[in-house]
Parts: sequence; structure tokens; C-alpha cells
Amino acid sequence: MEDIRFTPGLLPPEAEALRAEVRTFIADHLKGYPGVKRAKSWSGADPEFSKAMGARGWIGMTWPQEYGGGGRSFLERYVVLEEMLAAGAPVSAHWVADRQSGPLLLKFGTEEQRRKYIPAITRGESYFCIGMSEPNSGSDLASIRTRAEKTADGWRINGQKIWTSKAHTAHHMIALVRTQPQDPKDRHAGLSQFLIDMKETKGVTIRPIRNMAGEQMFNEVFFEDAEVPADALVGTEGGGWGQVTTELAFERSGPERYLSSYQLLFELVREIGADAGPAEAAGIGRLAAHLSTLRQMSISIATMLESGETPNLAAAIVKELGVAYEQDMPGKAHDIAGISPRMGGGDFDQVMAYMTMAARSFSLRGGTREIMRGIIARGLGLR
Ligand SMILES: Cc1cc2nc3c(=O)[nH]c(=O)nc-3n(C[C@H](O)[C@H](O)[C@H](O)COP(=O)(O)OP(=O)(O)OC[C@H]3O[C@@H](n4cnc5c(N)ncnc54)[C@H](O)[C@@H]3O)c2cc1C
Repeated sequence: MEDIRFTPGLLPPEAEALRAEVRTFIADHLKGYPGVKRAKSWSGADPEFSKAMGARGWIGMTWPQEYGGGGRSFLERYVVLEEMLAAGAPVSAHWVADRQSGPLLLKFGTEEQRRKYIPAITRGESYFCIGMSEPNSGSDLASIRTRAEKTADGWRINGQKIWTSKAHTAHHMIALVRTQPQDPKDRHAGLSQFLIDMKETKGVTIRPIRNMAGEQMFNEVFFEDAEVPADALVGTEGGGWGQVTTELAFERSGPERYLSSYQLLFELVREIGADAGPAEAAGIGRLAAHLSTLRQMSISIATMLESGETPNLAAAIVKELGVAYEQDMPGKAHDIAGISPRMGGGDFDQVMAYMTMAARSFSLRGGTREIMRGIIARGLGLR
């Protein structure tokens, strides 16, 4: 049984000092940026905004300076993320690279890979996507069938990925593929990770899947005899499962797991205004109190990361509670304001309509609710 504990954490003065700087940056760059765009939260993209963040040193903030990283603390990074998410800033272009592909390459990549890929990520110029899910292999990731075979010069990849967010704009994918046939005795063996150039590799086809909100966010990605060089392998051949588990832990520990619906709370408060009746005030108060608790738990994760711990169980708990919170937000906003979601109208209506459609997906991305609860139960020694 894992130790479950949320060490109370405080943001140090240097992190709080950064907050003012980030707010000024956001006010300058997002003047007049509409509520419905802010509602996209970390799904909204703007390459120029990513470059501007890179120029300020706010991508790869905790990475070593020798690769272009900021060498700053997890708590400073927390403040930048928190402010960006609270403002609904369009951070999605570089999001995956900053959150997980960069840390993965720093941990498992070769020195050559680090030098080649990390600096462009920190400049906000290089975007990554995650090639894990396949048709019939989502929660049961170990059952993937996309395979890579060794060739004289590298590897030949065949198969299909699905639900690949932003594959159409990403420069690279880090894909989990099978390099050995599945072994029924060890389902996690024989998997490897590859860094695939999405723009240059022949035999890669990207097909859009439109989501319920009408956006092209997801894609199917097909590999037909796609040849990649030998140095596209990330980490150890056959060690993909351990690596991907580490990568998923990077994906589950941040404040984005409870702030995705923040714009709706903001618009709700604006809509109700200063004349809230007792029921409205109580409803908003409850939402604010939950938000504040989740924030404390999330800061605690950042504090533990800063002191070199790997609080995977605590991060899974924050993700599960945070996702429930952000997913319930449209229903709560409806109950409090007494307005049904509808297209058109003012900022509140538009944000509520968008959130009502988007929130369904929050409990799927990064591992479904049932899978997260399974991880928590295992951590608690219950299964
Ligand atoms: C917004 C969004 C972005 C995404 N982006 C990416 C991406 O960039 N790259 C990528 O690779 N994937 C991505 N995904 C895919 C996502 O990881 C999968 O949808 C998710 O892992 C679930 O897999 P699935 O859709 O195949 O559902 P399934 O695994 O088929 O699950 C169907 C249902 O069965 C339940 N279930 C499955 N197994 C169990 C079990 N053992 N015990 C209890 N219940 C179970 C699940 O909880 C779920 O409710 C994204 C998904 C979303 C919604």
C-alpha cells in the first residue's frame, strides 16, 4: 500500500512574484480575447502565443538550462500554468511537449535526442502529440497492435492510432508500438516508444475526427510501411511500458485537471453579479470552496514534486476529484443560473453551451474515471 498524504504546501515569494508578471503578459497578449475562446482552456492553440511564452522562458521551466530549459522550480511552473489556465490562454500548441514529451525525452532519451529536440520545445516552436490509443485499445493499452519491425537502417511501422489530439499540427509524435509479438505471460513486454517526425515521414496519413463541439481536435493516424531511422527509438527497446507509465504520471499531476471549466465559473459569477440571492450565493460559494480545496491539493503535488518525490497516487486522486469537479460545472451552472445551454447569446450562454459539449470528454482523456479509480484502489492496497 502506497503512502497517501497531501503535504500542505505554500507558494514561495518568488513564485508569487512571478504571478504579477504572468498577469501583465496575459493582459497584453489577450486583450479582447473572447470568452468562448478562453473556454477552450488548454485545448485552444495559437503558435504566436506559444512562441511568446517560450521567449519569456515559460516552456520547459523546470528543465536544465543546458538544453534551453529554465532551471526553475515546480512551484514557479505551477503559478504560470495556473494563471494561463485561469485566463483561458491558448496554450495547447506546445502543451503536450511541455507537459510530457520533453520530460520523457529528458528522462529516457539519448543525449543526442535531448540536444536535438528540447531547445525547440522551449522556444515554443516544436509541438508533439501522443500516439497511445488504438481502435479497441484505449484503457487496455497493453493490447496495442501497431508494430515496428527492424530494417537495415531503422524501423518500419505499420498500424493505426486513434483519438490523437492535435496530430494534424504536431511536428512529432511519441508513439507506443509493439516491437515483439504479444506474450500472454507478460502483456507489458515487447512494447517500445518511437519519436516520429509527422511532417517528413512517408507512409503516415492523418485523418480528422470532428468532435461534438464541431472542432478538429482528434485524428486517426495510419502508418503504412512508415520508415523511421534507428535513432527514432526512445529509451530501451522493449522498455516501453515502464516509460509510458512514467509519461502518464506526468500527464496526471497538473492543475489543468480541475481548471478546464474555470471560464464557466468566471462567467457564472459575472452573470449573477453582485445581486446574488441566497441560493445562488450558496451554490457559487460551494463551487469556490471545492475549487480552493482542489487547488490546495494540487499545490501539495507541486510541492512534493519540488522535493523530489513521485506522488503518483496523490496525483491520481487529484485528477479523479478534479475531473468530477470540472465535469459537473455545466450542470451546476445551469442549476444556479436557471438557464439552459443554448448556442448564440452572450458570453455566459456561449461558454455554457461549449462547456456542456466539451465536459463529457474530461473524464476520458488521460485515463478514464474507472481506470483512475482502479489505480487509486491499487495504490490503497484494495485490489
Ligand atoms: C479529449 C480526449 C483527448 C484524447 N487524446 C488522446 C491522445 O492525444 N492520444 C491518445 O493516444 N489517446 C487520446 N485519447 C484517448 C483516451 O486515452 C481514451 O479514450 C481512453 O483511454 C479510453 O479508451 P477507449 O476510448 O478505447 O475506451 P475503452 O477503453 O473501450 O473504455 C470504454 C469504457 O469502459 C470502461 N472500462 C474499460 N476498461 C475497464 C476496466 N478494466 N475496468 C472498469 N471499466 C473499464 C472505461 O472506463 C470506459 O467507460 C483522448 C481522449 C479524449 C476524450
